[in-house]
Amino acid sequence: MSNLRFKVVEEAFKKRPLEVKAPAERPSEYFGKYVFNQEKMFKYLPLNTYQQLREVIEKGTPLPLSVANDVAKGMKQWAIEMGVTHCTHWFQPLTEGTAEKHDAFVEHDFKGGMVEDFSGKELVQQEPDASSFPNGGIRSTFEARGYSAWDPASPVFIVGDTLMIPTIFVSYTGEALDYKAPLKKALAAVDKAATAVCHYFDPNVTRVTANLGWEQEYFLVDEGLYAARPDLLLTGRTLMGHDSAKNQQMDDHYFGAIPERVQEFMRDLEIQALELGIPCKTRHNEVAPNQFELAPIFEECNLAVDHNMLIMSLMRKIARKHGFRCLLHEKPFAGINGSGKHNNWSLTTDTGVLLHGPGKTPEDNLRFLVFVVETLMGVYKHNGLLKASIMSATNAHRLGANEAPPAIISSFLGKQLSEFLSKVENSTKDELFTLEGKHGVQLDIPQIPELMVDNTDRNRTSPFAFTGNRFEFRAVGSIANCASAMIVLNTAVAEALTDFKTRVDALMAKGEGKITAILEVLREDIKTCKPIHFDGNGYSDEWKAEAARRGLDCETSCPVIFDRYLDDATIKMFESMNVMTKPELEARNEIKWETYQKKIQIEARVLGDLCMNHIIPVATKYQSELVDNVHKIQEAFADPAKVKDLTSYNIDLIEKINKHVSFVAENVEAMVEKRKVVNKITDIRTLAVAYHDEIAPYFDAIRYHIDKLELIVEDEMWTLPKYRELLFIR
Ligand code: ADP
Ligand code: MG
Repeated sequence: MSNLRFKVVEEAFKKRPLEVKAPAERPSEYFGKYVFNQEKMFKYLPLNTYQQLREVIEKGTPLPLSVANDVAKGMKQWAIEMGVTHCTHWFQPLTEGTAEKHDAFVEHDFKGGMVEDFSGKELVQQEPDASSFPNGGIRSTFEARGYSAWDPASPVFIVGDTLMIPTIFVSYTGEALDYKAPLKKALAAVDKAATAVCHYFDPNVTRVTANLGWEQEYFLVDEGLYAARPDLLLTGRTLMGHDSAKNQQMDDHYFGAIPERVQEFMRDLEIQALELGIPCKTRHNEVAPNQFELAPIFEECNLAVDHNMLIMSLMRKIARKHGFRCLLHEKPFAGINGSGKHNNWSLTTDTGVLLHGPGKTPEDNLRFLVFVVETLMGVYKHNGLLKASIMSATNAHRLGANEAPPAIISSFLGKQLSEFLSKVENSTKDELFTLEGKHGVQLDIPQIPELMVDNTDRNRTSPFAFTGNRFEFRAVGSIANCASAMIVLNTAVAEALTDFKTRVDALMAKGEGKITAILEVLREDIKTCKPIHFDGNGYSDEWKAEAARRGLDCETSCPVIFDRYLDDATIKMFESMNVMTKPELEARNEIKWETYQKKIQIEARVLGDLCMNHIIPVATKYQSELVDNVHKIQEAFADPAKVKDLTSYNIDLIEKINKHVSFVAENVEAMVEKRKVVNKITDIRTLAVAYHDEIAPYFDAIRYHIDKLELIVEDEMWTLPKYRELLFIR
């Protein structure tokens, strides 16, 4: 058969698993093999350099160049022993993915030869030619070049022959051009605010760390089938394709046995991830056919973000080795579940955890309560912004599609915690002063029932759920950089905690006791943030109506949701917490709108091309065969009644094809004309909104008719691999 589709299907069926040889050592032995971690720092650095670097890492202070030179020397020695020849600054510009530019470890030796060289300066700071990275006009506004600077909190690692140095990427005047610079500032803000609040309970706390445990969902598709789908190749999702008769309705994929070819891919991925210090823990099949998940043990947020970026690039690379393509798009296939990336978030101090209930003492419970309530305050106050932080052209397909969190941010707390909150809310001042606390304070905080820790009654429909010792932010998209959500969440919580402390201190200054003051502010906040608390079914229509009544952000248009980044409350929050300035926010929003518009534009072009080059030609060819058949019947039979009888079915089909083809052709034409009109818009936000309102609606309308044609046209003629092939062959 000449049809490429049949060829790739046949080949895909024949593929066997690519067996992966496990390393001779155990995971505990090869974990971090390619990372310049603490153990290697100790081995390769002079003791005082080691100590200075540890201090820089722990305190987040800048690295003096003299120390950097010694660090570079040690790193170079380790890297050369590992066979490394190049190094690169590895950063996260405002595109999808990461960026790198490799430089060889060589210099002239001024004796006519070369020496391996790598200086502290190269380690600490570089100037990638950054003019083509998105900057939203920052560089023209500020006339500044961009530079990358090492983030010592994230260790250097080796990929292939290259030493990878995690860096932040900023303009010369200090504006962030990446995800990591604001993330680090947000983490510093939450550290400062949370540590100050912790001092009400324990003066020995010196640091509060935000943790992130992400769960990465993805699809695997055979690479031959993938290559035969120009839409997947160019947009990351299928723009057409009729439902497979069987898809996920039997629930037989979720947690099912992992197919062998996939299992080998996972093994390979896990081994390489562990060698790079990513603590992989869990793997399983997901709900949709050919959908899977990988989750590591949670880590400090900044490191976890780097590790997630690294795992996404590893997944793509290793998938190809195994003859797959890894799809990280949030919604590669219509009609079945899309992929997300739950962000499990918590705060810990250097002396213990903050979001873990129940505590052993009433004070632990009070502290727990403060952190839960102020997290809710941050989420409540900035619910629209949090939604903006996870919104994108691709994630928009998944949100609100009854498989993922709705496009409204709310928080699930569970029965016990809800009861606890209302008990505190309705308590009076006197009621609470009965018990003796640890530091001799009189207090009685109601105990949280033990049950809460392993509260299994988890509400899967909630976008921001409390799950015993952490909050799980489930609306994050599978392809997203987690930093986007983590910047907003950590800054919002930092602001809420700062505000909380200001009010408690004010009451104390008026002579109120500490515990009384804390409880008074808490009672007020529990009342204020009530609208964000919702334990019911987030997928229901009633909730949409109820959320609107509660004043939660219910906007669904992606480019309009981005407006939340420029709300007064947002600017105030980011500026007061020292995370981002208004010009930075404006610049970043320009990039968001531009990215959105470009993605829709690419999809529109691909859809148009496929209609004209695949769908319409194939459908009309089949239609001609039907017409031939009708002619032949007319020639063969004289009786008009007989002819009518024998041709009616095909004539009906011919007309149906005609109807669908006409619709497709007319609407592709109309879509192209509409693009010409809206492309004249110069304001980037207005352009993005026009693409959302006027271009994107064509996609589903056109698709409907293509999918009908797929059902009508003879299978052998259809050129694009079908859903049943993309989803079930592995
Ligand atoms: P589920 O799919 O049931 O939510 P998983 O085991 O797949 O659970 O993933 C749980 C994720 O939550 C893991 O990444 C885990 O490391 C992370 N996690 C567990 N406890 C915490 C915590 N206290 N803070 C942050 N992340 C956590
Ligand atoms: Mg989860």
